[in-house]
This record gives sequence, structure tokens and C-alpha cells, in this order.
Amino acid sequence: MDFLSAASAPPQDMIDPFGRGITYLRVSVTDRCDFRCVYCMAENMTFLPKRDVLTLEELDRLCSAFIAKGVRKLRLTGGEPLVRKNIMSLFRSLSRHLDSGDLEELTLTSNGSQLPKYAEELYCCGVRRINVSLDTLDAEKFRAITRWGELDQVMAGIEAAERGGLKIKINTVALKDVNEGEIEEMIGWAHGRGFDMTLIETMPLGDIDADRVDQYLPLSQVRAQLLDRFTLEDIPYKTGGPARYVAIKETGGRLGFITPLTHNFCESCNRVRVTCTGTLFMCLGQEDAADLRAPLRASEGNDLLYAAIDEAISRKPKGHDFVIDRRNRRPAVARHMNVTGG
Ligand code: SAM
Repeated sequence: MDFLSAASAPPQDMIDPFGRGITYLRVSVTDRCDFRCVYCMAENMTFLPKRDVLTLEELDRLCSAFIAKGVRKLRLTGGEPLVRKNIMSLFRSLSRHLDSGDLEELTLTSNGSQLPKYAEELYCCGVRRINVSLDTLDAEKFRAITRWGELDQVMAGIEAAERGGLKIKINTVALKDVNEGEIEEMIGWAHGRGFDMTLIETMPLGDIDADRVDQYLPLSQVRAQLLDRFTLEDIPYKTGGPARYVAIKETGGRLGFITPLTHNFCESCNRVRVTCTGTLFMCLGQEDAADLRAPLRASEGNDLLYAAIDEAISRKPKGHDFVIDRRNRRPAVARHMNVTGG
């Protein structure tokens, strides 16, 4: 093969050293957020300098390179993705990959606060399902968890999303003594409105103002408690993410469990994450990363970028090993969830 044809050859799909195909990319389009959830961030956060952040055009190019390398599902997240200025232009341009059939799903994870403004436009950009994070239905508790958020605004966002035709999944972080006693009610509420719901264990990412031992609620315990009230049937339902689902007979709805601590799900990991500065993390729970901004900016063509991605995927670790207990008070990794993207 001569040099020219090698340089323009279509990129290979991404297969990691453990034979896992990488088909799901999550992109944190900003580390900024209009909330300060107590388990996610400290109240006084230092955010990444704007000059280090990729432009929307660069993010488009980066996402498109991953799609050319076999990514089929793309989730924009953050921080809060909808607080990034002009973010709809990125959704709009990425929707061309849905039209071409190269991308199966374009979606986002949001705290819901900006959905009244953007729900309709998201639908027009081909988004069909969204995850909305909501940890309580109690307005006062909501303010305590998010520090800066208003429950009414999020509820208005959820209603706007429903009106706009978006399918909603509610993501709830299980928090000891905070929403522990409310989980059944939240399931009833979500399923009553036709929403799927997923429970998430809190992960030791970044220093926060609180002690994670006080927040951590193992989902094995929650599941056992739910059995007193509900009939749970394991089902093979999959959305491409790490949740394992049950059907609840009494509500007729689906409940997912994301259990990075009590039941590690790394063996089927199909994901990588990119930050808004173009840093690729091959695992949410490990420090190893690859800089994609330099190869992105080094030339107009994508060959350097493809090579950097391939090299990084060849280093994707087998998995994370999160621990939260009294002997392990330090975070597993120093960066907060808003940087890598939840
Ligand atoms: N702002 C958006 C939102 O609220 O959904 C997207 C980003 S947020 C970091 C994504 C998800 O990560 C949210 O559901 C949030 O509750 C969750 N999250 C944040 N920090 C976490 C942690 N330390 N452990 C587990 N989940 C966390």
C-alpha cells in the first residue's frame, strides 16, 4: 500500500485490549453548571479557563471523528450541557450523522433547568430520548441537594420535554438519609408519568465539601428494601449504558440500577469520555487520559487524531475499582464528575 492510500484509508473501528468494541461516546461540552449538587461539586469550584475549552466547531469535528471510527451513540453532558452558549448549533450540526444513518442516537443528560427553552429544538435536532437528573420531589430537599436549583424550574423542564415529544428517563443518585426514604415514591411518580427511572450509586470522584461515607447508599440495600413493596423481575432491556433493569409488576414501569460499587459493570464497557478541553478518558474511574486537542489542532486532516484515538483505546483499562468506606476517604480520582461528564 503506498503512503497516500494508507493516509486516506477509512479508519478502523475501535476495539480495546479486552475485545470490547467502543461504540458509545459521552462528551462533556462544558464543566460549568447552574447547580452545585453536594455529591458532585464543592460550592466554590474553579472551572476550566475558557481559552482551554474546545470551540463548538472543534467539538463537532471531534465527535464526527469518533463517529467515523464506529461510535453509534453520542451523549452530550457536562456540567450542564444546556448552559453552554449556542449549544443548539452543535446539536443541529451533529444531527447530520443521524440523517446519514452513521449515528443511531444523539442524546443528552441534563438537570432539566433549561429544557423549557430548548426541548422543542432538541426534538427538531433528532434527539428522541433524554436523561433528566432528579434526586427528590421535595422542593426544600431539592434546594439542599442542588444548593442553587429550584424544583419548579426542573418540573417545568420535564413538562416541556414531554410536550416536545422527548422520551424521558429520570436519573436519581441514591443518597443515605437524604432521599433514601423517598425512593418508592419517586418510582411511583416516574412510572405513573410513563418515565423509566435509574438509580445510581454515588461515586468517589473529586473532593467535595462533604464526606462521601455519609452519602453512600449501596443499591444492593435499596433493592432489598424495594422487594418489601414491589415485585421486581430482571429483564434483558438495554439502552447501551451500564444500567441493569428490572420491570416492576405493580407500576408496570422499568427501573435501572447503576452499581459501580456494589456490582462493577466494566466487563461490558463500550464507552469512552471526552472533556470540553479534548481530553479523552478511557475509564470514568481511572486517571489515565489522552490529549486529543493537540492532534485536533495540529492539522486540518484527521489522521493525527485517528492515530491518537487508536493509541488511547489500546490503553483502555479493564475497569475501575471504586471503594467508599471509612478507610478510603480519598476520591478514587481527583477530577469531579462535571469534568468527565456523568
Ligand atoms: N448537569 C447534567 C445533569 O445534572 O444530569 C449532566 C451532568 S451530571 C455530572 C450527570 C449525572 O452525574 C447526574 O445524574 C448526577 O446526579 C450524576 N453525578 C454527579 N456526581 C456524581 C457522583 N459523584 N456519583 C454518582 N453520580 C454523580
